[in-house]
Amino acid sequence: MPPHVVIIGGGLAGLAAAAGLAGRSGLTVTLCESRPRWGGRASSFLDQTTGESVDNCQHVALGCCTNFRHFCDLVGIGEFFQRESELAFIDGAGKISRMAAAPLPAPLHLAPAFAGFGFLSWRDKIRLAWGLRALARLRTPAPTGQSFLDWLRQHHQTPATIERFWHVVLVSALSETLDRIDIGHARKVFVDGFLAHRAGWEVWVPTAPLDDLYGTRLADWLTARQVTLRLQAGARRVVFNTDPASTQAESSRAVGIELRSGEVLSADEVILAVPQNLVLPLLPAEWQSHPALSGIQRLETAPISSVHLWFDRPITHLRHATFVDRLSQWLFNRSAIHTRTLESAPATTTTAANPPETHYYQVVISASREVLARDPAETIAAVVNELAGVWPVVREAKLCHSRLVTEHKAVVSMLPGVDELRPRQQSPIPNLQLAGDWTQTGWPGTMEGAVRSGYLAAENVLRRCGLPASLIQPDLPVARLSKWLLGL
Ligand SMILES: Cc1cc2nc3c(=O)[nH]c(=O)nc-3n(C[C@H](O)[C@H](O)[C@H](O)COP(=O)(O)OP(=O)(O)OC[C@H]3O[C@@H](n4cnc5c(N)ncnc54)[C@H](O)[C@@H]3O)c2cc1C
Repeated sequence: MPPHVVIIGGGLAGLAAAAGLAGRSGLTVTLCESRPRWGGRASSFLDQTTGESVDNCQHVALGCCTNFRHFCDLVGIGEFFQRESELAFIDGAGKISRMAAAPLPAPLHLAPAFAGFGFLSWRDKIRLAWGLRALARLRTPAPTGQSFLDWLRQHHQTPATIERFWHVVLVSALSETLDRIDIGHARKVFVDGFLAHRAGWEVWVPTAPLDDLYGTRLADWLTARQVTLRLQAGARRVVFNTDPASTQAESSRAVGIELRSGEVLSADEVILAVPQNLVLPLLPAEWQSHPALSGIQRLETAPISSVHLWFDRPITHLRHATFVDRLSQWLFNRSAIHTRTLESAPATTTTAANPPETHYYQVVISASREVLARDPAETIAAVVNELAGVWPVVREAKLCHSRLVTEHKAVVSMLPGVDELRPRQQSPIPNLQLAGDWTQTGWPGTMEGAVRSGYLAAENVLRRCGLPASLIQPDLPVARLSKWLLGL
């Protein structure tokens, strides 16, 4: 009998692990997901008022997310992403500063765009350039507990650069405030995104609902490669050999999983790809306190909110915008971006509340603790008011429908020292792998981190089954000038 691999959790980590194992002769693979849909935190829901499939929140990837992009191409959904090579920053006065790469090699390609930022003075820009260089050249690990905000202050960054540049970039990338960010993770965002390669910063936006991508299309791809897919199949626990006659090695092997229905699936290899707070309850008490696993319960999370707005007319021709000095952080013009639905997906319906002329926008607020403390109607009103300050047409437009969605545990916070708490994919249980954006990947909690973790877990399983293969993709190559100027 070929080894049976059971993957628990159908978010991007579990899906990437399944994709990495799919179609390999000599393995059978089962993927179990507790919810009635795939995609985990990157999924959609049906908005009852408009009848539209609405993403829980806009998800974007960057050019430096090489594994995520490989995964999308592998499973045939890469064409449903649009590369955006120009960003619009809108400052407190409503002035737009555009960011696009100049025809210069990295790390100079964005220098003219940064020089044109209307929301920073020349003094700020010089400090910013100096700060970016110091960050890139940082070699020694930061003193334990030092936050990125401390580092910025020590490196003479002005309040304007901190609020209008460092915060704006990092709150979107890591969903945390600067005082709660590890220096190493902050450095990674700027090095991989802005300094190492010309394409690292480019934004990849899905042009179809996430449910279509990670649900319909991906499920078809996995099924065609003999992966058994089971929705509404939540695991209750990982089963171990409890025969008193078994050796210690035998009793520390997982032999299967028990579903909440009571059904038991036997397994030779298990990949646990559930969120960090749900891992330990699936394991016996003696494993929960193992030093390699016990740090999991100290991981903290940050919320992300999205405000969904349907207006009766267009409010801007921009496809997306980044805000400076506002509660709103990003605006996505979903009607302009969302151009494609898969043939296999059910057509979205048009209801009375959703006449063809409605225009759908989504505003993202990361690290949204402030939003959690407010009444939702107050947040929606504050966001609409901010948009009206930039585009006066909003005052005349009719807001046909709106809703606020907050994911309370959206991502693990990259607090100073967080990597000491993140376990590797190979758990201390030999035939049990961990996957998820919260595991040790070198990346923060992102789609790239989730896919990397799934690939790493799948590589471990393949190695253990005598079918070694490499799944992890290389980073974008570092430009020669970046090596020379910044020592990258
Ligand atoms: C609002 C929001 C916005 C975001 N924006 C971005 C972005 O723009 N770019 C980006 O890169 N990342 C973004 N992220 C982060 C990204 O969504 C996550 O990093 C990624 O989806 C995590 O995937 P995962 O598989 O590790 O975990 P999850 O997606 O949480 O998947 C875990 C799965 O396990 C299932 N499960 C749990 N318990 C069981 C059980 N007992 N049995 C079976 N199944 C179980 C869950 O239902 C879930 O489907 C965002 C996240 C949120 C919440």
